[in-house]
Amino acid sequence: MSNKTLGLESKLYQYFQDVSVREPDILKELRGETAKHPMSMMQIAPEQGQFMALLVQLMGAKKTLEVGVFTGYSALAVALALPDDGKIIACDINEEYTAIARNYWQKAGVDHKIDLRIAPALETLEKLIAEGQTNTFDFAFIDADKSNYDHYYEQALKLVRTGGLIAIDNVLWGGKVADQDIQDNRTQKIRNLNDKIYQDPRVNISLVPIADGLTLALKK
Ligand code: SAM
Ligand code: CA
Repeated sequence: MSNKTLGLESKLYQYFQDVSVREPDILKELRGETAKHPMSMMQIAPEQGQFMALLVQLMGAKKTLEVGVFTGYSALAVALALPDDGKIIACDINEEYTAIARNYWQKAGVDHKIDLRIAPALETLEKLIAEGQTNTFDFAFIDADKSNYDHYYEQALKLVRTGGLIAIDNVLWGGKVADQDIQDNRTQKIRNLNDKIYQDPRVNISLVPIADGLTLALKK
């Protein structure tokens, strides 16, 4: 896992950030607080938050989904880019991490846009499908437990509309996916999903090597 863009040597990475990352103060503050957390490396990179915010604006997205909230950075980046009546249904199982998230969403004045569901994401997504919310989401960001990535992808594919976008995080997995000597469960799951999406006729794709790799899959 990596919370900075892979493969750029440090001087060039610094330059890349200097001339492109415009991190709002509230996101900077949240990143500072998350940095003290023992699991801080789970947070997305600021350049990725900015990229996802741009995508959401580009699409004119209003209704979005997030699977894996942690301390709320990615949801906050997206929420700041949504219109005032925009919505994120955000899934996580951890009350402690998401208490930090709620605090910052409130501070940023976007908590009314975020509907946090504390339950296993598979259950929350199944419930949304059962409620008839298929084909209604503009954007979905998948960033929770890697062992369920394929399920999240399949559920998100049902929930997003035609022309909607699914963004899947950590698809380059710190480079482990390219090393066939590495065969642990999470690496295999990500590798298998990458192979599957590459062949998947239901989507148009681009794997963007930002941060730890972000696959964009647009539902046809
Ligand atoms: N997107 C976040 C950010 O920008 O900081 C990082 C998310 S972190 C990599 C993964 C999150 O997935 C953790 O907060 C964890 O509690 C959550 N998670 C793990 N298993 C889950 C499950 N079965 N259902 C929902 N959330 C889960
Ligand atoms: Ca991630």
